[in-house]
Amino acid sequence: MKTGVQRSPVESFDSISASHRVLVVGGGVSGCAAAIRLRHLGFDVTLMERARFPREKICGCCLGAAGVTALDALGLGDGVRRLGVPTHTFVGYLQTARPLKDSPSNTDGICRPPVRLPIVPGVAISRSVLDTYLLEQAKRAGVDVLQPHEAQVLRSDSTSVTVRHRPRVEQANQVSADRENNGAANSGNGSWTTTTEYSSVILATGLTGPFQGRIDPELQGDVPAENSSGDACQTSPTRWDLPWIEPPHGPLGIAAHVPGDHPLAAAWPIPVGEIQMVCGDDGYVGMVRMPNGAIDIAAALRSRGKGKTSSMGQRSPVDRVVRLLLSHPDLNSHSERNRLPDQSWQSWLQQDAVWMSAPPLRRQRQAGQGRVVAIGDCARYVEPLTGEGMTWGIESGIAVADLLHRMGETGPLSPKVDDANGEDFARLWQRHLPAIQTKRRVLCGLVTAALRYRNFRRVTRIGLSYAGWMAKPLTWGVAAGPRFESTSDAPDG
Ligand SMILES: Cc1cc2nc3c(=O)[nH]c(=O)nc-3n(C[C@H](O)[C@H](O)[C@H](O)COP(=O)(O)OP(=O)(O)OC[C@H]3O[C@@H](n4cnc5c(N)ncnc54)[C@H](O)[C@@H]3O)c2cc1C
Repeated sequence: MKTGVQRSPVESFDSISASHRVLVVGGGVSGCAAAIRLRHLGFDVTLMERARFPREKICGCCLGAAGVTALDALGLGDGVRRLGVPTHTFVGYLQTARPLKDSPSNTDGICRPPVRLPIVPGVAISRSVLDTYLLEQAKRAGVDVLQPHEAQVLRSDSTSVTVRHRPRVEQANQVSADRENNGAANSGNGSWTTTTEYSSVILATGLTGPFQGRIDPELQGDVPAENSSGDACQTSPTRWDLPWIEPPHGPLGIAAHVPGDHPLAAAWPIPVGEIQMVCGDDGYVGMVRMPNGAIDIAAALRSRGKGKTSSMGQRSPVDRVVRLLLSHPDLNSHSERNRLPDQSWQSWLQQDAVWMSAPPLRRQRQAGQGRVVAIGDCARYVEPLTGEGMTWGIESGIAVADLLHRMGETGPLSPKVDDANGEDFARLWQRHLPAIQTKRRVLCGLVTAALRYRNFRRVTRIGLSYAGWMAKPLTWGVAAGPRFESTSDAPDG
């Protein structure tokens, strides 16, 4: 699949880009990729990120091979390889049987010996390190970064975008952007500034942020009611938002780190380079060792009520993760090496570990309207099982920048996008999206759906134990992304 620019974007850069000011909202992997690429293409770019970095973020911390290749096109692949550790093997513990009725087991399933599969190497890297590195690179490329600074779109039409933004003053005890994003720890912020200076806005706000399909009472009265031309961008008189195609539903995300200097990090048998995953009726949990020896634990738990016993539904998410982990044969509580000096690892996870959670993961929204487009998790979600979320974010960031640049070559970006023939920025982006995502989204969705069922897990385990090569189309398919031309030698890069 080839969706990158067809000729060197650096050579074809012209003055239209320079006069086109773009705002990127959100400085995660998608926002940074978009901002850096836009700078390489000569655009004037501002990025607003509401959290202070470094910040941890809920994630399995496994950047797939395609994501690293996409970063190569920005000249950043080697930097990320240096900061992380290579991942080369997937080890799947599949729950294939229930524990006996009268057994004292406190897990919902039993895993036989795992399935081991070689994968196209990716990188294990903590999000505090990765996101901080990418944002630093954005600054070096000439992106004007405002942080901690939040932004909201007030309206978008064919000639301009109205945005309001303000500096944020964070609470001293704020430990993670994810926690804060979900809560209301928000006082003491600067005052809002409203502007129409940006010709296009790229939303890269992830799963949280203001674009949640809900009415923000603060915005009441700020925005005039729907205009007489029936401006489709305004979904209600009181706020602007991109409508959901698929509202948030499905699995709940939850993650924690075992710090590198914690006894559990030394005790748990998670070798460097292995992505270990326990898959059961209740969802899946992945573990990977990061460069500083810490272990990332990240789970996607099935939403309540779907084929679950009532006892499952009553347990807390952390208890559910612990029960999944207990079916990992090397992590069971009887093993001497997994015992901590003064408590069990289960109680450490339940009482002392710092957990981050995410709202329901599955979702998709209209990918843009007028001059505003969404990328990464803000646009749509990819199953975390195969570690594709960051890759999708980076690829969509690069692709959206290339698209904006190509529009500059083929039609006027400014002062008015040409939507008379239905080809404004957002519509083009909406049409462009499937080419960069559908194949892998479908692949990941199918695998995840299938692993929900015990019989399928049983067949998969037996099949792959004897013929591991059968997984090759999947592992290679997931690792093969769009090819982007390199802009790392761009004068602005
Ligand atoms: C349990 C779990 C495990 C996962 N495991 C993996 C994995 O192993 N590999 C993988 O590739 N992916 C994984 N993912 C998915 C991955 O984390 C996401 O796909 C990825 O982080 C999306 O990046 P993003 O840049 O779109 O959003 P984010 O990384 O969420 O960044 C959004 C940024 O926008 C900022 N922001 C939000 N609103 C505003 C605003 N109004 N103004 C300014 N800034 C704002 C936020 O502070 C944040 O920094 C996992 C996800 C979950 C839930």
